[in-house]
Amino acid sequence: MGDVMKPGRGRPALVEAVIALSESDTWDEARGEWEPSGGEHAKGVGSYDNECVCGQKGLVYLFEIANPLTGAVLGPIGSECIHYFEDAAMDASVAALKAIWNLEQVVAAHIPLEMKHLSRLKIAALFEYGAIEQREYNFLLDMFNSRRAPSAKQRAWAVAILRAGPGSVRAFLTDTAAGNRPLVRVRTIPEAVTR
Ligand SMILES: [Zn+2]
Repeated sequence: MGDVMKPGRGRPALVEAVIALSESDTWDEARGEWEPSGGEHAKGVGSYDNECVCGQKGLVYLFEIANPLTGAVLGPIGSECIHYFEDAAMDASVAALKAIWNLEQVVAAHIPLEMKHLSRLKIAALFEYGAIEQREYNFLLDMFNSRRAPSAKQRAWAVAILRAGPGSVRAFLTDTAAGNRPLVRVRTIPEAVTR
């Protein structure tokens, strides 16, 4: 990454806020002190009253970052500004939230959720943000990776997980899109960081 990624001139308020809460007093050193706090949120379309610490308005994805050295927490930060940190874990959070936001759009359009709407990244994101449990994650991933056509029983379980009832992925995404449930990462899949 060259000078293009440096927010020094374009985002002075972000640089100022980060350095003020860091031990280091230069952007290049200070940015390395931060990690995702796990308190990310995706806002639905129309919830455009949120402002990044840099001053940018109309954020769709809001991130919160933490500095273990100083104990500081900073947010909300938009996905564009998150990329300036050049941090793999933060970029993975952005990718996961975008995956969930994409699925929220499917549900909002009243399209029945199916396996074809999923990807490894989306299945991992649903698990990381608590929409599905471990055995559901394992099942969906197996289904996704399988070259064989699913059995009737497997199809029925997939439907149950994805769109049947109050515990389904559809219900989860309806709640998060409406802002009735915050999107909080409840677990991290280590291999998902580099996906
Ligand atoms: Zn920003």
